[in-house]
Amino acid sequence: MNVSVVIVGHIDHGKSTLIGRLLYDSETLPEGKMAEIQRVIEEYRKKFEFAYFLDSYEEELKEERTIDTTRVLFKGKNYYTVVDVPGHREFIKNMLSGAAHAQIGILVVAAPNGVEEQTRRHTFLLHMLGIKRIVVAINKMDLMDYREDAFQKTKAETSRLLSSFEYSGVGFVPVSAMEGDNVYKPSENMPWYKGPTLIQVLDSIEPEAEVAKPLRFVVQFNYPVDGEPVTVGRVEAGIINTGDEVVFQPSGIRTRVEKMKALAGEPAEAVAGDSIGVVLKAQPDRGDVGAHPDHSRKPLTRVLGEVVLLEGILKQGDKLQIKCATKKADCTVRQIRERISSETGEVLGKDPKEIGENDAATVVFDTEPMVAEKFSDIPELGRFILVKNGRNVGAGVILETAL
Ligand code: GDP
Repeated sequence: MNVSVVIVGHIDHGKSTLIGRLLYDSETLPEGKMAEIQRVIEEYRKKFEFAYFLDSYEEELKEERTIDTTRVLFKGKNYYTVVDVPGHREFIKNMLSGAAHAQIGILVVAAPNGVEEQTRRHTFLLHMLGIKRIVVAINKMDLMDYREDAFQKTKAETSRLLSSFEYSGVGFVPVSAMEGDNVYKPSENMPWYKGPTLIQVLDSIEPEAEVAKPLRFVVQFNYPVDGEPVTVGRVEAGIINTGDEVVFQPSGIRTRVEKMKALAGEPAEAVAGDSIGVVLKAQPDRGDVGAHPDHSRKPLTRVLGEVVLLEGILKQGDKLQIKCATKKADCTVRQIRERISSETGEVLGKDPKEIGENDAATVVFDTEPMVAEKFSDIPELGRFILVKNGRNVGAGVILETAL
């Protein structure tokens, strides 16, 4: 199985070194790849720093939306891809591009330093990204003479932070990324620790399988192939089979899959992550989402989202558009519930009149009928962009759909 992992934590706590260690100790590594790895680590490191020292999104937003997520692979029982979401700005880019969704977060906390500003900020990001599976690597244990009390102290402090974001049952592993203790190899320096190594914890976490979820087929457009209209779209969750009955919302079209077309031939089924063409009796619209009749949802007209505003101000009554998957729906700001620090995730005030640039907030929107899901359920249908006068002014995730 392929699992995507995001590694976060305060600068200099050892994220890059941990990635290096994971690569170095991973059995997937061909001989003589060390120079290549060094280069990847250097790049990763630079990107982290870059993210912290630049403080304007502007230029990147002007650039095309695709981001080059750092993709590094290491292996345990699963194959792990490291997704690069180092900071707030990167998070926004990822939201806009939809490029990355990590399934597991590794929070690195250096034992000599304990919880610091970016430890908090990144925990908030994990929380906001809906990443429910976290493991904490308490790093640099070598600098603390591998003492258990040092581990326990940082563990307690990190544990308090995590429970403030409603994380519970999180695993903590005392490691030295530099020396390789408890990353892949059980440490001989910490006989008091009887728990699993970091890779064992990762291997024991069951990532959510998008395939096991109900079908969500997002329509991009209709396109004629050999005189036959083909509906092109992406399966964001579940499985679609030839012969299936599918209901599209918000248009309400109910139809049957006659045939499916892929680049190579006519497959009988398509699964989460596949882009596919389907031949249907009736054609849905761009922005429609197809589901099996048993699991079809009524279109929504109200959602609660957590928003980060990139420019301008946002206040009650504002009219704008919400772009979710391929649907662009007119919407109105019904209520701003809480203003939130986009740095720390801290609630700064209830019922604010308005929020400004770089603020985060929980906001209730009234929308034209559209299909959306909670971000934590189906990420692709749970992230959105706010558009005002043709500009992307904010991005967010959907927290609640039953309001
Ligand atoms: P990042 O900013 O979180 O990516 O941190 P780095 O991986 O660049 O590490 C910051 C510094 O801490 C570097 O000088 C590393 O060599 C050092 N470092 C990282 N992990 C360990 C460790 O386990 N033990 C010791 N002694 N130093 C470490």
